[in-house]
Amino acid sequence: MGGMFDCVFCKIREGKIAANFLHEDDKCFAFRDINPMAPTHILIVPKKHIATLNDMTEEDAPTMGHLLVVAKQLAASEGVAEEGWRTVFNVNRGGGQAVFHIHLHLLGGRTFGWPPG
Ligand code: AMP
Ligand code: ZN
Repeated sequence: MGGMFDCVFCKIREGKIAANFLHEDDKCFAFRDINPMAPTHILIVPKKHIATLNDMTEEDAPTMGHLLVVAKQLAASEGVAEEGWRTVFNVNRGGGQAVFHIHLHLLGGRTFGWPPG
């Protein structure tokens, strides 16, 4: 079975898998990554199941923009806004995507290299 029916992030949204929630509203929710790559590592996830950025449409644009507003707020509440932080959307296997439900990574609390690995 594929798609949203065995999607780990849909299960987190439904409360069927536990997560360390930091935010929820009508469009999205956010929780701490279970395998953090930085002192602050938060995933900001649209409630709508969209597999990858390749599957996004214009009608998703307000939700996708909203993810960035929530990221900004969480960066501030985590205390990393001024020192600097990183956002990432991994897309498909070659882009490092492992969970096929769009999520914005918010990373902070250390310095980041450029270009990313
Ligand atoms: P990506 O590689 O961009 O698809 O990122 C998927 C992220 O989801 C990884 O950083 C995982 O550590 C994280 N992850 C997977 N399962 C869970 C979970 N149950 N709770 C929190 N984070 C998770
Ligand atoms: Zn999903």
